[in-house]
Amino acid sequence: MNTEIIKITDLSAQDADLSRAADVIRAGGLVAFPTETVYGLGGNATDDGAAKKIYAAKGRPSDNPLIIHIANPDDADRYAVVNDTYRRLAKAFMPGPLTVILPRREIIPRSVTGGLDSVAVRCPSHPAAHRLIELSGVPIAAPSANLSGKPSPTCAEHVIQDLTGRVDMILDGGDCEIGLESTIVKVDGEDEITLLRPGGITYDALCMAVGKVTISPAVTRALAENERPLSPGMKYRHYAPSAPVVLLSGAPEAVLAFLVDEQESRRCAILCYNEETVRLKSNRLFPVGARDDLAAQAQTLFRALRSADRTDAEIIYAHLPPQSGLGLALYNRMIRAAAHTVRELS
Ligand code: AMP
Ligand code: MG
Repeated sequence: MNTEIIKITDLSAQDADLSRAADVIRAGGLVAFPTETVYGLGGNATDDGAAKKIYAAKGRPSDNPLIIHIANPDDADRYAVVNDTYRRLAKAFMPGPLTVILPRREIIPRSVTGGLDSVAVRCPSHPAAHRLIELSGVPIAAPSANLSGKPSPTCAEHVIQDLTGRVDMILDGGDCEIGLESTIVKVDGEDEITLLRPGGITYDALCMAVGKVTISPAVTRALAENERPLSPGMKYRHYAPSAPVVLLSGAPEAVLAFLVDEQESRRCAILCYNEETVRLKSNRLFPVGARDDLAAQAQTLFRALRSADRTDAEIIYAHLPPQSGLGLALYNRMIRAAAHTVRELS
């Protein structure tokens, strides 16, 4: 398949390009597009055939459901059964990096929801994503635009590496603002939700909009053999580089001293804080942002992991993120990349 790449430099002057992309979606084709979280691999969410193409292009197991993307929060009512809790979340966080799981309406085929009777709904704030959905006139089912087993793409170059020849079109909108996938919540009842995947909308922010927010255990720890995940995606091995990842925790000076020693004695890649680059000199060094700048770390993490994975490192070190604020989303992605391996230093 020939993949057309369209660079978005001035969205307001590119409606003809976006209309062509929308035509591809309506005709059952696939378009990768930028969002504020990561790039999505989009197809018509009301078309069973398009959903099957998405799973095939990614190499994704077909019981791992897709998120459907809508142009306006109110449109959710056409595809899912909404309630007041949804409306409150929508008012507080949409458009934006929040996905809400609701009971599915018949118009969304089971192939999109991995056979489930619920459907995940999101209204992205990225202007190109918004315009694409609007012009398509259909909801767009879109998982992250990476091959299954690779980190989510945060720039068009990552999408081009993974999906050239597998999709009809790639819209290149530059770097994603947040860099981690959306926050996913499940509505349990009036004023009650469960956080299934942390992202740009933090636990504290959710608590301000909804009375009771429960964090699913799978967010911070490995599930036991007999535990059933609330979200099918939780049971799949998440992205991990080919070299083992070890997360370091402890006093900043102790961690830095350990890294200084290790870089002399082993072939290690290091995801470090910007302020540590003065002491760390390896050519497998990947600064992810300042220690206190969790937003910068979120934006850089997947790119750094892709880069570290391309080196000849025998081991990859990174800091154990805090579990507060945006840190919880970083923590959730990192402990999975590290298969829960944490080294305490003192
Ligand atoms: P991705 O699109 O790659 O960001 O992955 C979407 C995530 O949303 C996966 O982990 C899915 O398991 C989860 N998800 C999508 N739909 C549902 C649903 N109906 N119920 C529970 N989890 C869902
Ligand atoms: Mg994904």
